[in-house]
Amino acid sequence: MSSDNAILLPGLQTYKEREAVLLAPYAMRSIDSKGRKYAEPEHPYRGPFQRDRDRILHCSAYRRLSGKMQVFTGEMGDYHRTRLTHTHEVASIARTIGRALQLNEDLIEALALFHDIGHPPFGHAGEDALNECLRDVGGFSHNEHALTIAEEIDVRYHGFPGLNLTSEVLDGQGVRADKQNPDLKPLLEVQLVDAADSITYDAHDTDDAVKLGLLTLDELAEVSLIREMLRRVNERYSNLSPRVLRQTLVHELIDYQVSDVLRQCGQLLATAELQNAQQARLSPISIEPSDLVASQKSELEKFLYDRVYRHPEIIRVREQAQSRLRKIFAGYLREPGRLPKRYLTRSESVGLPRTVGEYIAGMTDRFCNEQYERHFS
Ligand code: MG
Repeated sequence: MSSDNAILLPGLQTYKEREAVLLAPYAMRSIDSKGRKYAEPEHPYRGPFQRDRDRILHCSAYRRLSGKMQVFTGEMGDYHRTRLTHTHEVASIARTIGRALQLNEDLIEALALFHDIGHPPFGHAGEDALNECLRDVGGFSHNEHALTIAEEIDVRYHGFPGLNLTSEVLDGQGVRADKQNPDLKPLLEVQLVDAADSITYDAHDTDDAVKLGLLTLDELAEVSLIREMLRRVNERYSNLSPRVLRQTLVHELIDYQVSDVLRQCGQLLATAELQNAQQARLSPISIEPSDLVASQKSELEKFLYDRVYRHPEIIRVREQAQSRLRKIFAGYLREPGRLPKRYLTRSESVGLPRTVGEYIAGMTDRFCNEQYERHFS
């Protein structure tokens, strides 16, 4: 750290000192970061992953997650998760696990806040429709689109395009975008955010589906994981109201999965004598659920798929959203003059179909519906 910084922060612990004390040897340290594409001076008191976290938090694609659906639309009430509250829950669960394992919480938080930033309106229905519309030019994936936002689209800083995030955050997202590639074994922090994402949606989709009346707890008890959670809850409490029972079940579901990951990985990491993050990345240890919980989770996910994601009401919303997206996409191709000027400029380098797809992907559900009603219905 330069002498200027030392004067600015007399007596304060720097992030390097903090990481040296708090992180395990296998955690990703800021001082070992491969850095950013465009070199920038060091910040006096925020570490590189903290700065990434802040850049993500302040970008417009992040704020728009509040207007994007996770599984259930805004017309269905205001209890259920949006893409933004899902993201917060992932970050919270990931940090809990990361702190217990002495991993780099700043990196974990940045990765978690970033992970769904490329989601188009209307969740996976929207993604599937855009993928179809862009089939001839390489398709659309929300994981890849997050990287395009961060590297090209979100222009808000002087001196470089995009957010100029660290390689560790970009590479972590790159692994999400290329899940089929077995050669990409990511940092433990990246694996952890992936595990936390799954813990989070399994728990909150269960909660939301029951709250919205698409499922009853009795129906859910067909699933062995839910039966086991209900048994644990009933062992501790009696006479819970249906509302408190549902919420206690969800807390139990999160706690059970988090504890399982910690049991599964904690002991292995503690005894493996890993010297650094790269060694840990290449080691056979993975941050993931045990085989038992993995199979319980896939039974729950199959149940949710059949009974919730394929519920007639969700299918109706899905079909409506996809039909609108297809019409909007065709509409902008026909009338590119409706695109904002900077997107028109971008179309000169990446082509019109890709640009239209990117513009639509940035829309909230509400804005997308509005554009549809106003110009393309
Ligand atoms: Mg997610």
